[in-house]
Amino acid sequence: MKSAVLEDAQRLVIRELPKPELKPGEILIRVKFCGICTLEQRLYRGDMKIYYPIIPGHEVSGEVAEIGDGVITPLKTGDRVAVDMVYRCHECYFCRTGQSNLCENRFNRSIKPLGGFSEYVAVKPNQVHLIGDNLPLDEAAFSEPVACCIRSLKKLQVTIAEDVLIAGAGPMGLMHLQVALAMGARVFVSDIDGERLRAALAMGADGVFNPIDDDITVELKKLTGGRGVDACVVTSPALPALDTAFQAIRKNGRINIYTAYMQDKPVMPIDMNTLHRNEVLVTGTEGRTEIDFQQAVRLLSFGRVKVKPLISQVVSFENLAEGITAAMSSDTQRVLLGTLEGELPEPAEDSSL
Ligand SMILES: [Zn+2]
Ligand SMILES: [Zn+2]
Repeated sequence: MKSAVLEDAQRLVIRELPKPELKPGEILIRVKFCGICTLEQRLYRGDMKIYYPIIPGHEVSGEVAEIGDGVITPLKTGDRVAVDMVYRCHECYFCRTGQSNLCENRFNRSIKPLGGFSEYVAVKPNQVHLIGDNLPLDEAAFSEPVACCIRSLKKLQVTIAEDVLIAGAGPMGLMHLQVALAMGARVFVSDIDGERLRAALAMGADGVFNPIDDDITVELKKLTGGRGVDACVVTSPALPALDTAFQAIRKNGRINIYTAYMQDKPVMPIDMNTLHRNEVLVTGTEGRTEIDFQQAVRLLSFGRVKVKPLISQVVSFENLAEGITAAMSSDTQRVLLGTLEGELPEPAEDSSL
């Protein structure tokens, strides 16, 4: 099978590797699409490392190719599925206490983490989710990021008729927007990119703000009886997005730092006395649990979250490196790897992956 192996930073090599050998208790998936998320972009750039060589890719959709011995599942060969590529050990403290998004073994080398940039992946049955007949496979590849938005908004305890600000209108911002709308919130979006704000409006945002032109704090206070928003998700690592969150939040409001910061390690743009007096809750979120993933698959299948407009490009293995570079640009939302048929490269001698 074809796989894209990241041998070192910026060195992505397409190799012919043996299909994973199916162990008892596993399901083999024929990958059809895999999203290029910020994780893959950071691994490729080299500013995040798990280990080398690694096959990146964690936003997978595809078909059930084979069911291993001893698997008890309603799934059958040919079923269309979304795959949660994060393995969970179900043994560590976090798995045992319902926080499997923080599983201590999710990047353990022995379980070969990620791996979606391949024609086939072997996974545990609980990583495989049947999708609705109406959900195209390219859209099903968004189950993972949508699940992360669900986790983020649940952590903020967003509820019906609340005011939510999404700071940053990249793909994660636009998915947060739609999930928050599905949860019954009124949702505002801020970004400095007019094109992205237009996309937010098209996806149902109740108001959009460009910090270059608008005084977001003043505008949002006008709309919220002078209080500020109930909850805010920071989806952009640009530091002004963090400032916006602290300025726009009401007393006793909740902020989720959804984005990761790489080069900049910002301090909270608020003094501790204001935090104390205003009772602002600040948190972060990491990944998603199995239930978040299940809910994401259903929301996508219901058509409540529309991700088709977020697909900027579908690339093949042969132009995957260009696709990763394109995914880093603010001109694109999501770029997907589509495992299209093509010329196979010469089989590699080393088949350690
Ligand atoms: Zn992702
Ligand atoms: Zn665990």
